[in-house]
Amino acid sequence: MSKGSLDFSSRIIAHRGAKLVSPENTLAAIAKAADFGAKWVEIDAALSADGVPVIIHDATLDRTTNGRGPVDQQYVEVLTKLDAGSWFAPEFAGEAIPTLEQAAELISTRGLSLNLELKPQAGQVRPHAEAIVEVLSRCWPEVATLILSSFNTTVLKAVGDLAPAIPRALLCDEVPDNWRDMMTELKCVSFNCNRKSVTAELVRDVKEAGYWFLSFTVNEVGTARKF
Ligand code: MG
Repeated sequence: MSKGSLDFSSRIIAHRGAKLVSPENTLAAIAKAADFGAKWVEIDAALSADGVPVIIHDATLDRTTNGRGPVDQQYVEVLTKLDAGSWFAPEFAGEAIPTLEQAAELISTRGLSLNLELKPQAGQVRPHAEAIVEVLSRCWPEVATLILSSFNTTVLKAVGDLAPAIPRALLCDEVPDNWRDMMTELKCVSFNCNRKSVTAELVRDVKEAGYWFLSFTVNEVGTARKF
């Protein structure tokens, strides 16, 4: 897919769903983002012990669920029965960790575009990439907009090999000196940079090189306008 086919004209992506008013990375957060008029949602994908992609930010369950320990050591049947809402507010009690399949279905039904961040654990890169591509090829409508993003260049390469038509974004906290080479080698269409590393010069260079430029995480209206 070419750069031109992605539409970031709304310029705002709901990070982990509407995470300031609902528990991040849940179906409630996705629905709330759509209610607020977001056109894009960003969510994080990890693998269960039995290789099913689920939506959760951290590698462990402790912060955002009533479970404990690493996500990738629990079967999907266990993960999806955990409470991923009560930590945020009592009215979200029983809100579950969604599978990627459930999240993709809601996101596409609500007419949102998806920025899916891939967070494979060490040694899981290939199965992670295969599982993500398998679910998306089955569940994501061909016409709906999707981008796969990651800090992990190995998984970006793996999904690129498996599904070259799905656009990819390189995530960076600090701008590597060889970002141009990385973008070319990984055939990414978007450079997604930590706001702390953003300069006007960088934005100009990235755009002149023919890529999209996205920045995370901007939660203040004034800063968003400036960006
Ligand atoms: Mg993320």
